[in-house]
Amino acid sequence: MIFQNNVFSPFCRPAHLDPMNFLRNRLVVVCLGLLATLLLYLLLPSIRQGSMEPSLKAQRFAVLATSPPGHSAINVSIRTGQLPGDPPLFFREALPVDGVVLLHGQAFTSKTWEELGTMAILANNGYQALAVDLPGKTHVCFTTHQLVCPGRVVSIMTWEGTEPQLKSVLLNSHTDVVPVYQEHWKYDAFKAFKDAKGDIYARGSQDMKCVTIQYIQAVRKLKAQGWKPARTVHLMFVPDEEVGGHKGMETFVTQPEFQKLNIGFALDEGLANPGEAFTVFYGERNPWCECRTQTIPGHGSRFVENTAAEKLRQVINSFLDFREKEKQRLNTSECFTLGDVTTVNMTMVKGGVAYNVIPAEMDVSFDLRIPPTVNLQEFERQIQEWCAEAGQDITYEFAQKHMNQNITSTDDTDPWWSAFSAACKSLNMTLEKEIFPAATDSRFIRAVGIPAIGFSPMNRTPILLHDHNEYLNEEVFLKGIGVYERLIPALTSVPALAGEA
Ligand SMILES: [Zn+2]
Repeated sequence: MIFQNNVFSPFCRPAHLDPMNFLRNRLVVVCLGLLATLLLYLLLPSIRQGSMEPSLKAQRFAVLATSPPGHSAINVSIRTGQLPGDPPLFFREALPVDGVVLLHGQAFTSKTWEELGTMAILANNGYQALAVDLPGKTHVCFTTHQLVCPGRVVSIMTWEGTEPQLKSVLLNSHTDVVPVYQEHWKYDAFKAFKDAKGDIYARGSQDMKCVTIQYIQAVRKLKAQGWKPARTVHLMFVPDEEVGGHKGMETFVTQPEFQKLNIGFALDEGLANPGEAFTVFYGERNPWCECRTQTIPGHGSRFVENTAAEKLRQVINSFLDFREKEKQRLNTSECFTLGDVTTVNMTMVKGGVAYNVIPAEMDVSFDLRIPPTVNLQEFERQIQEWCAEAGQDITYEFAQKHMNQNITSTDDTDPWWSAFSAACKSLNMTLEKEIFPAATDSRFIRAVGIPAIGFSPMNRTPILLHDHNEYLNEEVFLKGIGVYERLIPALTSVPALAGEA
């Protein structure tokens, strides 16, 4: 009787159906490494000035590197060394070749990266992996790594404000991507190929590595100008968003390390806008998955009354009639977007053992996305009625049932929104406010009471996240850095609110 369901989302694929899962995990590691490279470049002037090489007292030795589950052991050369300074920096480096540096903060040491096998994976892929034991919070920015679930790390880069007692501003991004079907791509999906028009083709170019890099570049530029934030800024890099966020943000928001960040407002991913305007998302629909089973067996040669199939038909009709009404509502209203209506899709039907046996039970499942304007209790009562109308012995259950309907204020009197929208206005940007049609990590942030806006500064861009040939034009990408250069000062300068020290 119990329906075993998978949670489907247009923006997520079940992990077990995912042939590229392994490759994606690797890519995440590589992405994290690249981010960390940039961090180290920003934070360690002695390396930037080329003073590292002469001061190396590296010892070389061969080790059989620790490999993560599913990887065969590989021989990697690890060297250790020390950079002079006060205090000196100890590091481990996995050879060969060039490119990636891993930076360490309080929670991780270079040894941790070695033990996780991350350095071995990077080295095996031709990257140079440098893991540094940083002496705590002595830098303007510092990075920490929180082990949220086994094998899942959230990295946080913190730029402490001049008024650290005030609530902080979170710039969130996820590091994972969805798989690619390379045969449908014009270029290698992981090469970031830029064509003559300046379109950069890469998985993640819209979702949402563009934003990740824009955050970092904006911080780099602001620091170079000598500007300092009043409120603390946290850049957070989270795993697993594309598979539902359970081992990422959903779990992390419940942990004390998250609470310690003292976040007052968050920015996270949005969507591209094909027109001149920029879309901002202040809420999300609630994903529910729905299913039911029915009984009345019999032989296929008779008119058995009250069969599972008859009941199933009525249930399906109720759901699909409702689907039609919602579709009409969307199509006939000028001001509605997808996020304003409930979408219903029949995703699975199961039942039957042989062509001449009337099955004792049949199951059907639906993917429902419910906007925050719908009363969820009433909606569930409606589902109960549809089941009751179809006959007895019908049960339903939810494989996924999100009940939180927090939305972020976009009222002009709201200090966060007014800072955000004023900064955009100063750049002559037009904003279109929408409910996000699918699911992002913002829903977990809003669920713990923190206002969050979904925003990726991509106008004049077709929505191609998760699609073949995902691309972003370099001009749009570079303009986005300037947008965050304006947004970060605006948000971190929001004056102390009621209840803040
Ligand atoms: Zn995304």
